Amino acid sequence: MKPSKPSAGSTDAVHAGVPEHRPHHTLTPSIVQTATYTFGTTADLEQYMRGEDQDPGREEYGRYGNPTVHELESRVAALESTDGAVAFSSGMAAVTSTLFALLRQGDHVVLFRDCYRRTRQFVTTWLDKYGVTHDVIPPGDLDAMTNAINERTRLVITESPTNPFNYCVDLASLAERVRSKNKRTKTLVDSTFATPINCRPHAFGIDLVVHSATKYFSGHNDVLAGVVAGASHTLSLVREARDVTGAVLDPHAAFLVSRGLKTLAVRVRQQNASAQALAEMLEAHPLVEKVYYAGLESHPSHAIARAQMNGFGGVVSFSVKGGRKPASLVVDRARIPKIAPSLGGVESLIEQPALMSYFELSDEELQKISISPGLIRYAVGIEDTSDLVDDLRASLDSLA
Ligand code: PLP
Repeated sequence: MKPSKPSAGSTDAVHAGVPEHRPHHTLTPSIVQTATYTFGTTADLEQYMRGEDQDPGREEYGRYGNPTVHELESRVAALESTDGAVAFSSGMAAVTSTLFALLRQGDHVVLFRDCYRRTRQFVTTWLDKYGVTHDVIPPGDLDAMTNAINERTRLVITESPTNPFNYCVDLASLAERVRSKNKRTKTLVDSTFATPINCRPHAFGIDLVVHSATKYFSGHNDVLAGVVAGASHTLSLVREARDVTGAVLDPHAAFLVSRGLKTLAVRVRQQNASAQALAEMLEAHPLVEKVYYAGLESHPSHAIARAQMNGFGGVVSFSVKGGRKPASLVVDRARIPKIAPSLGGVESLIEQPALMSYFELSDEELQKISISPGLIRYAVGIEDTSDLVDDLRASLDSLA
């Protein structure tokens, strides 16, 4: 059954998945900064190896587990409403280790063209080298997805909302179609842009949910991290892959992400509100060509987003009339957002994709992937909404 806008709230963000009791009765998690764990005697070691150790929190070696990291994993699983979660040293470490874990030579992957470009690159160039084939299909085209799934398809990968255009895919319908076409095909959604405050993909039948925790989860632009959440049987394969690839999260980074999670809901709600206000101002501005924000009725994903999300996220993309030069002026003249890649942190960030992620592409090549030279991506922070709106309006007005 399709749940009605399931999402996590601020009480969950502060308390869900937090253990009842911690060593030394600390309120906050300790940073367990150790690379290895000791055994009192060889008999203790043998007992552990036989799986008979009485201490459920006992670890063997830092690459296989760390209590600070485990606590973060429990918190993410509680927020995403999944059996568990596995943390990684970056969002891309989460993606690549998960794909290595679930795929083998001869398997087939379907991914949407507007997936994060490094994920797309990993599938289309790296996995391709290891004999994993793929089909890249148009954004949101569920018919094309269904047609592309064959008996060897093991994974369908999508993102919702997407970067930078905020397209959303009907998650319940995607999950249902995949299941009815091939029961062995798993679904993976990169939900970095949504966060569990705005949408929980697992509640719509999605198997695996990936986050670049570098973004909203940590929320302060000061740490790289990634997580994948899902059912235990699948995650055990992912965990095994992490043991081998070694893409583990450092305990101090895990602490920072856990701390960030406590304010996830208040930050995301503020970011939703500011992004909506910015999008509305931009849509009414005479020098703006087009605005891509799912909270606007003019956005093609508005109806889907309304049905499955509690908020539309903190990223607004828009194109400026006149193209590359005037867009650069808007970016340079906006005084609050810093020019930088990334999103989801407390500081607003702004960038022109043609000069950042796609710098090496010509205007013709940019056109092929629908990135116009005048496109700007604004990742809203937690500054006051009116300040952000006034600042960006002034920067646009200065072009007149
Ligand atoms: N997924 C999305 C949607 C992203 O925007 C990013 C990074 O920008 C990633 C994954 C990769 O995450 P990380 O930079 O933490 O490796």
